[in-house]
Amino acid sequence: DAPATLLDALRTHVEIRPDAEAVVELGGDRLTYAQLWRRATRVAGGLRARGVTPGDRVAVRYAAGTDWALAFWGTLMAGGISVAVNTRSARPEVEFVLADADVKVDLPPDAPLPDGDPYVATDLGTTDVAALFYTSGTTGRPKGVPTTHEAFVTNAENLIRCLGIPRDAGPELRTLISVPLFHVTGCNAQFVVAACLGGTSVIMPTLDLPRLTAALTEQRISFVVTVPAVYSLLLRHPAFVGADVSGVRWLAYGGAPIAPSLVRSLKAAFPEATVINGYGMTETASLITVLPDRDAAEHADSVGYAVPSVELGVAPIGDDPYTGELVVRGVTVTTGYWRRPEATAETIADGWLHTGDIVRIDEAGRVHIVDRIKDIINRGGENISSVEVEAVLLSAPGVADAAVLAVPDEVMGEKVGAVLFGDRTEIDVAEVIAHCRDRLADFKVPQYATVVTEALPRNAGGKLLKNRLREQVRWGDPLR
Ligand code: ATP
Ligand code: MG
Repeated sequence: DAPATLLDALRTHVEIRPDAEAVVELGGDRLTYAQLWRRATRVAGGLRARGVTPGDRVAVRYAAGTDWALAFWGTLMAGGISVAVNTRSARPEVEFVLADADVKVDLPPDAPLPDGDPYVATDLGTTDVAALFYTSGTTGRPKGVPTTHEAFVTNAENLIRCLGIPRDAGPELRTLISVPLFHVTGCNAQFVVAACLGGTSVIMPTLDLPRLTAALTEQRISFVVTVPAVYSLLLRHPAFVGADVSGVRWLAYGGAPIAPSLVRSLKAAFPEATVINGYGMTETASLITVLPDRDAAEHADSVGYAVPSVELGVAPIGDDPYTGELVVRGVTVTTGYWRRPEATAETIADGWLHTGDIVRIDEAGRVHIVDRIKDIINRGGENISSVEVEAVLLSAPGVADAAVLAVPDEVMGEKVGAVLFGDRTEIDVAEVIAHCRDRLADFKVPQYATVVTEALPRNAGGKLLKNRLREQVRWGDPLR
């Protein structure tokens, strides 16, 4: 039976394996389940002494590590709501989140852990909110998403089932967390999964590829999750090439579109692992669909099938009933944004959450992400997926990174523009366009292109910040 609240999940392992490692901070402390529990109860007492009552928000701004873990669990034990704040944010962005979440206590990076008489709330319910996450802010201002205990626990169960991790994996489940804990991938799909199984969260405070490679063997890592951009760098890193990673049994990628060639490289690099693509969003406590290992190589352009607790629907945009905006519902799906009634009304209708992602469902029922609604280019009535054109550009010679944006056009409404990142001496725009012509329908081939020598703006999750790029780019004359 799945535990009811996150605290129930943790308590189980405190009781059955108190001396097992719960959290390891690379280059820092390590905590057993018993130590984590005892010290977190003192954090809870300290927070209570600072006025935190059930439902109050506590901003946890520590760097990823054992203090972060203690503050997270301590907040829940106090009955509070842990607010995930992006530690890479600029001052005004942090201030926005602190004000928006209306926090009772802020724990900035250098603050000591609260300390007081041990306390554990006894009356937590499954539908109580445990944490407030903020969306990545890829398409606008970040929005707060209340996440319940039930959503956390159910999402963990979904992932455990989709990866086929044995329920009794226990201490053999050791996950390397190199992605931020302030987003759902690091927190819900790794940190909480480890806690639910009595496994270990091995936390790497700042991403470092040689250290990551060393940790895979030295820390006996069995479960890895990160974003495509990191896998891409890792697989090419000299420290990784030839390293023994046979201990990795479960591996997931997701958070952003991935090149099929990278999926095949991943499968080859981790031959012992079950490899899955996880598609999800902050609003769904992480997973919506999973592409299972058996499909990973052959259907690498897909994100697979709905996870057990999530129901999918398609709100068609044209005549094809299988193409349109993906809508979802289930216990892991939030019932509304934090104090944002308008955004909630725009996003949730009749209990279905509109994902903002355009998908196509194939004959086998697999989901394919076409694009975000906001990034689709409409050229004289033809819908063009910016993601599809980007994938082709990325395979062109000399192109290190690419973004495809709509360029306003008086006649066509919008035309296709490509921003190419790479060495000016290695990118030949005419050659890149010819490469596209061979692979794309004529109307999808970029009509504007600009080469930039500064890396494209991406956020912590490796997502392209197209809003920022739209403001920066100057198009010049059309190519044809
Ligand atoms: P905001 O909502 O503030 O604009 P965001 O949507 O980027 O930001 P997240 O909740 O972190 O915030 O990201 C969810 C989005 O990430 C999904 O809607 C989808 O567009 C994209 N995504 C997630 N996983 C995958 C995946 N496996 N493949 C392709 N795209 C993915
Ligand atoms: Mg979003």
